[in-house]
Amino acid sequence: LVEIRRVRKSFGAHQVLRDVSLAVPEGTVTVLLGPSGSGKSTLLRCINHLESIDGGRILVDGELIGYRQAGHTTHEMTPRQIARQRRDIGMVFQKFNLFPHLTALENITEAPVGIAGVPRAKAKARARELLDRVGLADFAGHYPSQLSGGQQQRVAIARALAMDPKLMLFDEPTSALDPELVGDVLDVMRELANDGMTMIVVTHEIGFARGVADQVVFMDGGVVVEAGPPGEVLDRPQRQRTRNFLESVR
Ligand code: ATP
Ligand code: MG
Repeated sequence: LVEIRRVRKSFGAHQVLRDVSLAVPEGTVTVLLGPSGSGKSTLLRCINHLESIDGGRILVDGELIGYRQAGHTTHEMTPRQIARQRRDIGMVFQKFNLFPHLTALENITEAPVGIAGVPRAKAKARARELLDRVGLADFAGHYPSQLSGGQQQRVAIARALAMDPKLMLFDEPTSALDPELVGDVLDVMRELANDGMTMIVVTHEIGFARGVADQVVFMDGGVVVEAGPPGEVLDRPQRQRTRNFLESVR
């Protein structure tokens, strides 16, 4: 579903992604690991074109992300075209970024009603289903300030799912949470994976990676150092850099 080919990205003179290639088949889960500054967030942000890329290409469901090719020249898409592509790609951040003045239910219906033009009653019914799915059926009327971090993150997941994405991107979704709240969020993500959602997850939760990932990708210094099934990358890493990193997070 996702094909990343030789993607390059610099901020000024600092090259953050150096020829990153990665394939994520439909219905699979990829966990991205790597030290701080290795380019994990930047790579996720390139996939929904929150960042432009300097070279290479990213395809989601066969469609080039962010750019149109006309003969030999490549043009960036219009904001409208980019927005249309983003509707198919859900993203969940470390900070939940819920709208503080909207209830859980309203946070979830906001984009379907405001962006996709779904009738309000239909969007509400779907939002209730999604709240139920993330274990928050009784919290529809709560404002973010009345929810725990873990509950807020589950609302953020439901909000992303409300647009019926083909792909979900998670950037350290549990790293801002108190330890006792992490499990509920990971459970929701695990169920989503079991339901066949294609997911790319940046996380240092090795247990989640081992149990849920089809593919684990270790990045360092803007390159993919090692990628493969969790049993290989986590238990029999080939590269010293991977071993050092795994020791540091265990
Ligand atoms: P972390 O584990 O800390 O979240 P990361 O692997 O997600 O790290 P990135 O956020 O992708 O790393 O950042 C990679 C490098 O790019 C870092 O050196 C960072 O300072 C730099 N960088 C990221 N975004 C920008 C930006 N908008 N402008 C300039 N430099 C940036
Ligand atoms: Mg990051």
